[in-house]
Amino acid sequence: MPSNGRQLTLPIWNEGEGPAADSGNPSHNGDDSAECGNDESGLIQGVLWPELAENVVVREEEQIMEHRLETETETEGRAGESGNEQDLEALKAACHVCDRCVLQATCTHVVFGEGNPEAKIMFVGEGPGREEDKQGRPFVGAAGQLLDKILASVGLTRDEVYITNVVKCRPPKNRMPNPDEIAACSPYLDAQIKRIDPSIIVCLGALATRTLIDKNAKITRIRGEWHEKDGILYMPTFHPAALLRDPSKKRPVWEDMKKVKEAFQNLQA
Ligand code: SF4
Repeated sequence: MPSNGRQLTLPIWNEGEGPAADSGNPSHNGDDSAECGNDESGLIQGVLWPELAENVVVREEEQIMEHRLETETETEGRAGESGNEQDLEALKAACHVCDRCVLQATCTHVVFGEGNPEAKIMFVGEGPGREEDKQGRPFVGAAGQLLDKILASVGLTRDEVYITNVVKCRPPKNRMPNPDEIAACSPYLDAQIKRIDPSIIVCLGALATRTLIDKNAKITRIRGEWHEKDGILYMPTFHPAALLRDPSKKRPVWEDMKKVKEAFQNLQA
């Protein structure tokens, strides 16, 4: 997409800060081979994703949830909040008491997501890590601090975007969420996207990419390429935690983020 001429400089996060791989996020403790570019893993390719192909049950549950949310929103409207904010607050309230999968039993806090309810750009990661679980906020560990720098490098702030994850509760020992957990939590992400109605979604890492773009996608192959679905532009890129482990991924992510910024500016033009 054409640039508007604004000069984007090599970001501060290229300067080798970088706590070690223990970012507190699930993909982020060195056990997510997909994030390391090794997404040919039998675990992901052969086990995780085929089960998500046809998920009629989830669709039915989503409809039930939608009805519940509509009811809650009608009865719990708060003065001074937009319809989007009220809808998101109702969704968040439902998420905080959710027991649709086993992750609820072991997490400290449900991490729903945060940011601008009218955001034109959403960032979707994998799931809460240790620090996120502790604070109840997305991307607040080392990977989150790097995400802040990535945003700043292209002139964005958290206030302008919305940040969430595929699953809202931390998997024990930062393991990869399993297919049942992803399917159980997907209605929340779908509902967030529906309410925020972003123009651009940045998929941070392999799990978000496969959940939102293509269940067979390989992040190393499609990273940096735009994908359009239902009027939304999707940009897959590496998870910030992958950059902490492998600084050579910083430049490709920066290139991807420049494309995101340009698309954002074109939307505003
Ligand atoms: S991970 Fe999602 S589906 Fe599972 S308990 Fe938490 S909010 Fe509910």
